Amino acid sequence: MEHMKEIIEKCPVCEDENLLEHYQLKDYFLSQEKFTIQKCSACGFKLTNPRPTKESIVSYYKSEDYISHSNKSKGLFASLYKLARYINLSSKYSIISKNINIGKALDIGSGTGHFLNYLKNKQWEVQGIEPDKDASNFARENFNLQIDAESKISEFKDDSFDLITMWHVLEHVHDLNRRLTELEHIIKPEGMIILALPNPESYDANYYVKYWAAYDVPRHLYHFTKKDVLSLAKKHNFIVEKIYPMRLDAFYVSLLSEKYLGKKYGFIRAFLVALRSNFKSSSKNPNTSSLIYILRPNRA
Ligand SMILES: [Zn+2]
Repeated sequence: MEHMKEIIEKCPVCEDENLLEHYQLKDYFLSQEKFTIQKCSACGFKLTNPRPTKESIVSYYKSEDYISHSNKSKGLFASLYKLARYINLSSKYSIISKNINIGKALDIGSGTGHFLNYLKNKQWEVQGIEPDKDASNFARENFNLQIDAESKISEFKDDSFDLITMWHVLEHVHDLNRRLTELEHIIKPEGMIILALPNPESYDANYYVKYWAAYDVPRHLYHFTKKDVLSLAKKHNFIVEKIYPMRLDAFYVSLLSEKYLGKKYGFIRAFLVALRSNFKSSSKNPNTSSLIYILRPNRA
């Protein structure tokens, strides 16, 4: 299988042209191909480079493991998955309801629509963006949601949304700066943007190093630290108002990382690593496996 690749010449955060090799790692999840993570020598931003083009990356998402697209699976694992999904949805909603009043929401990367449906049931006016056809059809058929393709984002009028959410999505977006510029336009001045991103400075990331499952090359194009998110926010006239921990992710990520390591009894260690990762994150300085960033337009 031959995949088209492209090379990024400039750091997407600070525009510096001096990008140096940081890690060589494998796509353990699917292709087993090797990829390079480069680091900007000026600002430290890490990106997968070279990377598959927007067209060719589609083949790196083709896997039967995408349980999130199916609701029909049975058994203990599926029940645990549904429980985790419910905990996830209610914890996401509790962050939203603490920070903003009901209005109009856009979920970019809405997948099967479970999150949008949850918001809709809380009286939000909702719509979604999802490139995957099976997932967006599922959302339309099961929850009667309006889901559009990515190209729709540039067609929204300025100041269209009170809330825009991207749950583990920005790390997949090829044209990062263009997407953030679009968000600057379509969010209302009083609105709020939520970004959930893997945290390469977490305890589990430092523990698993190149086997850390949330590097997830080549699907994850960027590996954002808190500092990177602050810089990008500033560049696009946002302020980072709050950062929340995302505690469940450490368990899933550690379990996958142990699988990639191929060690016996990995699930026990994964559980301990995930506990430690959460324990080492304080409310003053959240540093869990993934983090939730609350961004607001900077109106100063
Ligand atoms: Zn840079």
